[in-house]
Amino acid sequence: MKTIREPHLMQRQADDLRLGGKRIALVPTMGALHGGHAALIREARTRGDAVVVTLFVNPAQFGEGEDYGRYPRDIDGDVRLASGAGGDILFAPETAAMYPPGYRTFVNVEKLSLPLEGAVRPGHFRGVATVVTKLLNITKPHCALFGQKDAQQVVVLRRMVRDLDFGVEIVVVPTVREEDGLAMSSRNAYLTPAERGEAPALYRSLRMAEELVRAGERSAGAVIAAITREITGRSSAAIDYVSVADAESLEPLSTLSPGASVLVSLAARFGTTRLIDNIHITL
Ligand code: AMP
Repeated sequence: MKTIREPHLMQRQADDLRLGGKRIALVPTMGALHGGHAALIREARTRGDAVVVTLFVNPAQFGEGEDYGRYPRDIDGDVRLASGAGGDILFAPETAAMYPPGYRTFVNVEKLSLPLEGAVRPGHFRGVATVVTKLLNITKPHCALFGQKDAQQVVVLRRMVRDLDFGVEIVVVPTVREEDGLAMSSRNAYLTPAERGEAPALYRSLRMAEELVRAGERSAGAVIAAITREITGRSSAAIDYVSVADAESLEPLSTLSPGASVLVSLAARFGTTRLIDNIHITL
C-alpha cells in the first residue's frame, strides 16, 4: 500500500486514477483501525478500482477537554490492517497540511448537527462536515463509505453531499461488533477490564428495546425508560442521552407509528470513556 502525506500529491494521484478510468472508493478514518474499519475497507474493495483509506485525527471535530491529545495513534498497525483489508492508498496528512495558518472555512449542516451528539459535543459536526468536505475534494472519490455506528454522522453527511452537490455516493456499512455485542471502537482501548466487562450493557439495552417494540410497545418514553433502566441497573455507566428519533430528520418521536423509520441511539460514559451505539428499527 502506498502512503501519501501531501494533499496536492493525493489530488494529483486521484486525477491520474480518474483519467485512467478508475473508480475511487474512499474510507475516511481517524486511525487506530479495528474490525469496523476493516469491514468498510473490504466493502470499498468491492466498489472501487482504487481504495483510498484516509487517516487523520481531525482537531476540528474535538471539543475543549475531549480526547484529541490522547486519541490512540498506531500508523504501523493501521498500514497492516488497511492493506490486509484491501486498501491501495493511505492518505495520512499532517495537521498543518489540512489546516494551515490562516485557515478560515468551515461547513455547517444546519439543524441536523444540533441534537444528540451535537448537543453534547457542540461544534463536532461542523468539524466532521469540514474535514469530510476537504477529504472529498482531495481524494475525488466516486463513493465514500461510512459506518452505521456513527448514525448521526451519516445523516449529516448525506444531507451535506446532497445540499452541496458533491456527486459522490455515500455507502453505509452495518456496525461491526465484538462477540459480546460491544460495538467496535478505537475508544474501547481506553476501557479498564472492569468497564470492558460492563460495556456490552449498551447493545444489550438496544436489543431489548427492539424486542419491546416488536412486542408492540409504541411509547418512545417507555422505550427510553427501559433502556435507561437496563444500563444504569446493570453497569456503572453514566448516560449522556438515550433517544428515539426519526431516522432521517433526527426529530424526537413520542409515538412509534406504523411505517416509521426509527433511530434508537445512546451515549454513555464508563469512567472517562464515552461510547455511542444505536439501532435502526423499521416498523
Ligand atoms: P473513526 O475512525 O472512528 O472516525 O471511524 C471511521 C469510520 O469507521 C466511520 O465511518 C465510522 O462510522 C466507521 N466505524 C467505526 N466503528 C465502526 C464499527 N464498529 N462498525 C462499522 N463502522 C465503524
